[in-house]
Amino acid sequence: MRFDVFTLFPEMFTGPLQESIIKRAQERGLISVHLHNIRDYAAGRHRITDDAPYGGGGGMVMKPEPIFAAVEAVLGDEKGVPVILLSPQGRLFTHQVAKELSRHPRLALICGRYEGVDERVREHLATDEISIGDYVLSGGELAAMVVIDAVTRLLPGVLGDPGAAFEDSHAWGLLEYPHYTRPAVFRGWGVPEVLLSGNHAAIARWRREQALRRTLERRPDLLERAVLTEEDRAFLARLGWPKTPESDKPT
Ligand code: SAM
Repeated sequence: MRFDVFTLFPEMFTGPLQESIIKRAQERGLISVHLHNIRDYAAGRHRITDDAPYGGGGGMVMKPEPIFAAVEAVLGDEKGVPVILLSPQGRLFTHQVAKELSRHPRLALICGRYEGVDERVREHLATDEISIGDYVLSGGELAAMVVIDAVTRLLPGVLGDPGAAFEDSHAWGLLEYPHYTRPAVFRGWGVPEVLLSGNHAAIARWRREQALRRTLERRPDLLERAVLTEEDRAFLARLGWPKTPESDKPT
């Protein structure tokens, strides 16, 4: 998969792209990340990429011309490449969105700065607008890196253990079960007995129940959309889910 990132600060990507899973995915040819400095596409001796907002007010706005020029030059005639504007006003980035994006062979990511980008970029260049959460970052670079990381993990062959992404939190609409490693006892705190039992069926059942229990405790909203078996539903029913208007009444 190919990522084309349009940014005023390409060096912000240097560290994250050179470590661990993302580094190996590039070395093995599973992904390539191409960083394009929007400034290189700005006209004039000063290569200005931002200007004051029409209508007044504080802050600067990223000019449309260099962004259009950069994206059009890099994508050329290639059709169907999602052009994603990172923005706190976009649709929320979730596991499902990452999965959807992972099906494309190429993605273009536009990183805003300052007060954001001229609205015409959103209207006439971007085909999608993504927010990584309900807060405001100083720029789209960290958000783009989050998208690259989350999408890359889902690509076949990227993770050493192919089952890992399958079991991760959110993959099935549940939070993942807790993990333990050696030592079996640390500062007097032991590992749950079942994990030491070697009984794979019991371990699988315990993990599933833990995933259900912690999703119910921390993110009950996720249960509404999770893929649940009859056994899951019976387990959750014993924990009082779903809550009925009756169960909310004081006794
Ligand atoms: N004035 C804008 C607003 O209120 O919607 C916020 C601009 S923000 C300071 C600058 C840039 O950071 C945005 O153009 C966007 O590219 C990026 N950004 C900020 N928060 C983000 C978020 N939650 N998700 C994705 N990108 C974000």
